[in-house]
Amino acid sequence: MRYYSTRNKDKKAVTFERAALTGLAPDGGLFVPEVMPEYPSAVKSSLPVMNRHDIAFETIKPFVHGEIPDAALGDILQDAFNFDAPLARVKDRYVLELFHGPTAAFKDFGARFMARTFSYFRRGEDKPLHILVATSGDTGGAVADGFFGVAGISVTVLYPKGRVSPLQERQIAGLGGNISAFAVEGTFDDCQRLVKAAFADEGLNKRMLLSSANSINIARLVPQTAYYAVGAARALRETGTAVTFCVPSGNFGNLTAGMYAREMGAPIWRFIAATNINKTVPDYLESGVYAPRTSTPTISNAMDVGAPSNFERMNAHWSLKRLLETLTGVFISDETTRETIKRVHDRYGYILDPHTAVGWAAVDALQSDGAAIEGVPVGVLATAHPAKFAEIVEPLIGAVPVPPALQTVMERNVIATTIPADISAFIDSL
Ligand SMILES: *Cc1c(COP(=O)(O)O)cnc(C)c1O
Repeated sequence: MRYYSTRNKDKKAVTFERAALTGLAPDGGLFVPEVMPEYPSAVKSSLPVMNRHDIAFETIKPFVHGEIPDAALGDILQDAFNFDAPLARVKDRYVLELFHGPTAAFKDFGARFMARTFSYFRRGEDKPLHILVATSGDTGGAVADGFFGVAGISVTVLYPKGRVSPLQERQIAGLGGNISAFAVEGTFDDCQRLVKAAFADEGLNKRMLLSSANSINIARLVPQTAYYAVGAARALRETGTAVTFCVPSGNFGNLTAGMYAREMGAPIWRFIAATNINKTVPDYLESGVYAPRTSTPTISNAMDVGAPSNFERMNAHWSLKRLLETLTGVFISDETTRETIKRVHDRYGYILDPHTAVGWAAVDALQSDGAAIEGVPVGVLATAHPAKFAEIVEPLIGAVPVPPALQTVMERNVIATTIPADISAFIDSL
């Protein structure tokens, strides 16, 4: 498979390796596959009877075809996806639980796959690859954990000092080894500015082989297609029909991956794009006008995005008319999100994290509208474990059980270098 930039008018395509190791295209665009792959018909018809590893393999294979041989891809996937994405039944709907990985959020799928493919591409090379990543909290933890101990790669994570939760700080700065953490005296935007400046610094680029791991990287998006196919195949097995997935969205990488899985032929009927008050995409679907804006803070803060970076990918693939055929946008207030967490716990004994609750509430809103989802199976993507957001969830419903993956994190010591939000201070300390 070859990839081209969303801004590249002459469509000069690059390999998956090049697209993955570059991250952002040189013209500032995002890499997208040259053609949308489709399952061979024999694979498509046997999805409901295949196990999750085989489904993941068949889903990801065309995206890396010709570059990662089958045996190596099989090993990468076994190692990266060493936890399940179960489809839980709650009341009249399904919840696709994506929080059973080491950092208890769906970003583990992308980060773990990316770490292992980068390591594969760098096999036999002497010069280590150096990943720089700026985080507001969640991404840094997943990337640090995903790359921890991976041969030939070191990672530097920049996070805004005092602005991430104690748990997030330990996920980012508690590992040591090949993971270094910088606590920047500034905001997330400062962290991003420093990383951008480092990529542009000639001296540093001579000294180090740099790469990025931010959320626009195609190597984080591709592995996410797999759990949609696994979840849809399981739903089909149980209900005999295609599922509608509701995706709590911020940068819209997750939803774009779902659209890829559907285009490939996974048994998915439609999507619901659920956002918090940062409703740029629902507004676009309603008005046809795309108006990015600055973000507003909410209790589902991993979705506080006013200018979703993956919109550029969606726009490159699908016209507004095509999007409206498969996608419904809904936005949900913090008040409704809180009310939903409480109600779902009280009635069904199931604990939603604030992001998943936005998804659940979006389905409620469409059902009470008498919309076309009545009577069809609906699956809400659970993007994080509620224990990650205990400070919001516990005042509503009481104590939240902590999953094993998070239990030991708080025992880690934070080992971070504090730096001012200053470009030369950062570059000198690399
Ligand atoms: C990152 C994240 C999201 C948003 O995903 P996008 O791919 O950016 O749309 C939703 N929920 C949680 C818990 C996240 O960490």
